[in-house]
Amino acid sequence: MALLGALVCCLLAAWHGRPGLGLPLAPAGGRGPAAAVGQFWHVTDLHLDPTYHITDDHTKVCSSSKGANASNPGPFGDVLCDSPYQLILSVFDFIKNSGQEASFMIWTGDSPPHVPVAELSTETVINVITNMTTTIQSFFPNLQVLPALGNHDYWPQDQLPIVSSKVYNAVANLWKPWLDEEAVRTLRGGGFYSQKVRTNPNLRIISLNTNLYYGPNIVTLNKTDPANQFEWLESTLNSSRQNKEQVYIIAHVPVGYLPSSKSTTAMREYYNEKLINIFRKFSDVIAGQFYGHTHRDSIMVLSDTKGSPITSLFVAPAVTPVKNILEKQTNNPGVRLFQYDPRDYKLLDMLQYYLNLTEANLKGESNWKLEYILTQTYGIKDLQPESLYGLAKQFTILDSKQFMKYYNYYFVSYDSSVICGKICKAFQICAVMNLDHISYENCLRQYYIKHCH
Ligand SMILES: [Zn+2]
Ligand SMILES: [Zn+2]
Repeated sequence: MALLGALVCCLLAAWHGRPGLGLPLAPAGGRGPAAAVGQFWHVTDLHLDPTYHITDDHTKVCSSSKGANASNPGPFGDVLCDSPYQLILSVFDFIKNSGQEASFMIWTGDSPPHVPVAELSTETVINVITNMTTTIQSFFPNLQVLPALGNHDYWPQDQLPIVSSKVYNAVANLWKPWLDEEAVRTLRGGGFYSQKVRTNPNLRIISLNTNLYYGPNIVTLNKTDPANQFEWLESTLNSSRQNKEQVYIIAHVPVGYLPSSKSTTAMREYYNEKLINIFRKFSDVIAGQFYGHTHRDSIMVLSDTKGSPITSLFVAPAVTPVKNILEKQTNNPGVRLFQYDPRDYKLLDMLQYYLNLTEANLKGESNWKLEYILTQTYGIKDLQPESLYGLAKQFTILDSKQFMKYYNYYFVSYDSSVICGKICKAFQICAVMNLDHISYENCLRQYYIKHCH
């Protein structure tokens, strides 16, 4: 592991020393030196804890530790707490001063802290979302931001409704500067919308309210099409196809299986299958999918029913470093930049940045750094489904170095000594390559036969 760590360090050092990293990079693979690259930021799971403060009594540092002793609290946070405001300022300050030119930003939800339901209210949830929105607007007054609602962006948490509500109304008003009238209208009615990217005329963002499909949401139990979002999604994708647009899907709760919990979809299975079917039907229109919620860094590749890869999906790690007291691992705070071909919106690369929380607290300053560049670290040519599928195949090799890197990045380099045993690895890899029930179960069966018995 020391060797691997050293190797990662050298690679990072090499990239830090590379001139021109502050400018949009020409993609690898020789698309021609003149081809400009489009870029956008992805930020997720800010989870502001307004109660965070440094105090001698470690049980009182933050409400989000729920009475547990904060482990090593500093100005930028603690692993048992949600984000102090200073951590959130540091990430936006980093983005602003990174030298990277982006044409838009996606923001996939979860602004309020992880605290008991009784400690929040509709009013406090709206206050936190307002605070985060105005913070972003003050840092980037001219940037179009495309948000999605998270399961914590509601009170009581997870219970996002299928009709208009105070929260939907509030965010529709707050996010107006970034959205057209029709988007504001559907956001108000059901918490979802579609919106053209203003700098890229043929690119549309579809922001889904996948919280309606989330297991703990009892409002939608036994509903076949909550808020008619499936119907709306199909008709929106149909018009995009007719208008020759490309679409990026953004949402909070991801489709597919959770990489760390056995045979569990994040959404109710019925909704997961329905969404997968729609995504398969419109894979010619969908150029990428972007999610949050798990707080971890993972990739997925959707295949068609014959097993050919058709869409790349990316789950971004959280800004909050919070973990449960029983968990060993958590994530360092992260934020990412995607690169795409502005002619066809094909995804070319992703740069993952992170804050080493321990180091930042020790020094009293936040030094956000590049963690890895996806194509460089894995030696793949781009972020197309075929490329990610090829990478996932390499993960399956026994003692795969590629998989070891992937698993370290999964926790945003929180603990480079972390090991994923055979069973852990089977669940990770099956979640990368199989998003529907049948292929996921088949994968587990095959993988067990091959490696675990
Ligand atoms: Zn969430
Ligand atoms: Zn979250």
